[in-house]
Amino acid sequence: MSISVLNMFSIGVGPSSSHTVGPMRAAKQFLDLLIGDNLLDQVVRVKVDLFGSLALTGHGHGTDKAVLLGLTGYTPEGTDPEIIEPLLNQIRSQKELCLGETKSVTFTEERDLLFHKDRFLPFHPNGIRFTAYKEGNGELLMKVYYSVGGGFVVAHDQAKSGKIVQEEIKLPYPFKTGDEILVHCKESGLSMVELIRANERAFRSDEETDAALMKIWEVMEACMERGMNVEGTLPGGLNVQRRAPLLRKKLDERGNSQDPAHVMDYVSMWALAVNEENAAGGRVVTAPTNGAAGVVPAVLKYYKTFTRDPTDQGVIDFFLVAGVMGILFKLGASISAAEMGCMGEVGVACSMAAAGLTAALGGTAQQIENAAEIGMEHHLGLTCDPVMGLVQIPCIERNTMGAMKAINASRLALFGDGTHRVSLDQVIGAMRETGRNMQSIYKETSQGGLAVNVPEC
Ligand code: SF4
Repeated sequence: MSISVLNMFSIGVGPSSSHTVGPMRAAKQFLDLLIGDNLLDQVVRVKVDLFGSLALTGHGHGTDKAVLLGLTGYTPEGTDPEIIEPLLNQIRSQKELCLGETKSVTFTEERDLLFHKDRFLPFHPNGIRFTAYKEGNGELLMKVYYSVGGGFVVAHDQAKSGKIVQEEIKLPYPFKTGDEILVHCKESGLSMVELIRANERAFRSDEETDAALMKIWEVMEACMERGMNVEGTLPGGLNVQRRAPLLRKKLDERGNSQDPAHVMDYVSMWALAVNEENAAGGRVVTAPTNGAAGVVPAVLKYYKTFTRDPTDQGVIDFFLVAGVMGILFKLGASISAAEMGCMGEVGVACSMAAAGLTAALGGTAQQIENAAEIGMEHHLGLTCDPVMGLVQIPCIERNTMGAMKAINASRLALFGDGTHRVSLDQVIGAMRETGRNMQSIYKETSQGGLAVNVPEC
């Protein structure tokens, strides 16, 4: 199954990979179809229908904004967060949408962007339908997409045929499970990092992979830096105060602390910084989702700051292994909160970070697999119940917990020799089953848990 490690880390904007990044990509794909089929000139109206979880939490997650940006021609990677609000204000005040920046059509959100909160499409809880009309209200083009988590998008026809991921590139060490990776390592004599490298070479050169991963790290660091410096209240109406800048001030005042737990304060600060930026619609790296975007950078920053002799090579090894763990969860269960609850977001991010850290610290393949397993085992059953549908409570704080557990999981694994009772594949199986049995009120619908027990204001 040829998913590259780089697919698990995409640069985009907040607050949600499944509800912002994915729908923006779907809207852009629809626009590209109109352009590619030479239909754009005939379009007089576009209608967007959101279904299931996208409809239930789409307002809080910015799905409406994402769709408008995508139809205008923007991509998550290419959008400067600064232009978003002015552009949306213009669309809304003029009631006009510029498709691909060339073709203007009237666009009234009450008529053309509909939230079907009581309807789910067949293949995934995050369904979205685009319809373009020509003069006389005849249908020109209609497409349905699913945002399946982590910013990945699947067209309805692909989902129907079961070809969710195209197997285009032949990998020297193909895998679908953790056990298969361990067997490859044993048979080839390669370390897990070397084995992943060999697979990534099927996509691009080592130099290109390294440059892309270091760019991802650069964006993560910039995101943490911004998050630690921007004070104020997060948008959306919950009046959540940004805590990372406050924590930074306190840690600066405290200086070199003798408190052995001060490392935890730094890790929390880094995770808060990323997720507060995400909640504010800033530039973040999806890792593997936006709601869980703080875990991997916080743990990597811990590696760079608090471990002995950290290197850039260690950062690259971290990403390679963390990315492959994300792929295993995507293949074996899901990284969509609409299917798995928060197990699919913070749980997966924790497992990825635990494995990545273990690799960066020189762990064996067995220790890495053990760390990933511990990271998920203690997130099983974790629900997704964001208050007011905003990616703020419990999301922001939860990333600090995920980061802490990841470091602990890695340390536990490194203390052992890699022998353990529960395998990563078993825990992925348990996660898949738990997700299937979890009621939909706990799967990114804001219909249960904290979402209904915390007063909105
Ligand atoms: S509760 Fe977890 S899964 Fe749900 S939106 Fe927040 S971070 Fe994402």
